This record gives sequence, structure tokens and C-alpha cells, in this order.
Amino acid sequence: MGLEFTTTRVADAINWARKYSLFTYPFVTACCGMEYMSTAGPRYDIARFGAEFPRFSPRQSDLILIVGTITEKMGPVLKRVYEQMAEPKWAIAFGVCACSGGFYQNYNTMPGADQVIPIDVYIPGCPPRPEQVLDGLMLLQEKIQKKQSHSQLRILHEQQSSR
Ligand code: SF4
Repeated sequence: MGLEFTTTRVADAINWARKYSLFTYPFVTACCGMEYMSTAGPRYDIARFGAEFPRFSPRQSDLILIVGTITEKMGPVLKRVYEQMAEPKWAIAFGVCACSGGFYQNYNTMPGADQVIPIDVYIPGCPPRPEQVLDGLMLLQEKIQKKQSHSQLRILHEQQSSR
């Protein structure tokens, strides 16, 4: 009982630290990129949430932001980048194109990034306002703290099944 209590408290503290030290990989494919830059700039100050350092190597990132349309050709690239990220890792679909394909209903556009990787937070809008993006980021932080993200649930499941 004592050990379980301590382990839970330590896990809570680790998740608290994780949610305020996110290293983002901006997977920018289309016009939502403009709004990403706005969110990352000083006016909206994403640094307040501990997510100000973009990393352009998936091995140094734990949060992938899918910013824009995902085409059929781009899908495998997105999957590969995601697989190269270290666990635990998180994914946000930024804009309606990344969420569902948006208004592109054609043969070469995927109906959302979740066709290839698990998405933790969907931020709709074309493009979403920076306030929406920050709201989505706070939602992700809540999930990280509660261990409700896809990656954390998968790790938990693997740990339980290996016991
Ligand atoms: S959601 Fe709108 S702004 Fe964003 S990539 Fe799609 S078309 Fe461009």
C-alpha cells in the first residue's frame, strides 16, 4: 500500500513536469502554418505553457503538431516521423484538414491524420485561432496529468500485460 502510494505520487510529479516541458515537432504541410507561427510568437506566448522550443528532429520531440492537410503520399512520412519519437509522445491535429481532411474530399487527401497515427487532441477551424490552439494545448496537458493520452495508455497496458 505504502509503495503503491509513493509510486502514484512520483508518477503524478513526473507527469506534472512532462506537461510543462513539451518539445514540439511542427509537421507543417499547408496554410495552417501561418497560424502556428502566430501562436508561437510573442503575442500569444506559447512559452507560458512550456512548449516554446520547436524541435526539427522527431527523436528530440514528444509532441507532434500536424499542421495542415495530409495527403496519401504524406501519410507514410507522418507515420515514420511519429514512430521515431520517443515514448511517451503526443499528437495534436491542428486545423480541420488535419482533423478530418476538411473540405478536401478527393482521391489524394486523407480524411484526417488519425488515419495513420493516434491523435490526442483535435483542434478544428480553418485555420484555428491561436486561442483555440492554446485551449487544445491545455486540454493535452490535462490528459498528460491524468495519463489519458494514447501513448500513456499503451505503455500502461504493456506494463500490465508483462506482469
Ligand atoms: S484548415 Fe484551412 S488553413 Fe488549415 S491547412 Fe486546411 S485549408 Fe489551410
